[in-house]
Amino acid sequence: MEAQELLGLARKSLPLAYAPYSGYHVAAALLTEAGEVFTGVNVENSSYGLSICAERAAVAAAVGAGQRKFTRLAVVTEGDAPPLPCGACRQVLAEFAPNLHIIVASREEEGQSYLLAELLPHAFVLRAK
Ligand SMILES: [Zn+2]
Repeated sequence: MEAQELLGLARKSLPLAYAPYSGYHVAAALLTEAGEVFTGVNVENSSYGLSICAERAAVAAAVGAGQRKFTRLAVVTEGDAPPLPCGACRQVLAEFAPNLHIIVASREEEGQSYLLAELLPHAFVLRAK
């Protein structure tokens, strides 16, 4: 699947974002190695620390459906700046896809792409038992 198509799927989910406190809507579309796409949106909470980012929501949806191998992630926002994943999301993405390609797009800027390894060069790693 091409990056633009994945961005389109993320954009389609954007109206579903729940961001009544910040007004900052974000949506993500995560492509699995098998070609399936899982989307997620940010879900804020009145207890701010409980809010979850779109990227982690997409990962949780995919893992809950039995998918753990990801190749590409698209993240979109209506904001001005490209929605680069936060540090927590970078670490969660690195758990499953250290070689992930990430493409981000805002209202102003279209489709900048990065490798997760360049956004999180020394991810924490603990060997699973
Ligand atoms: Zn995040």
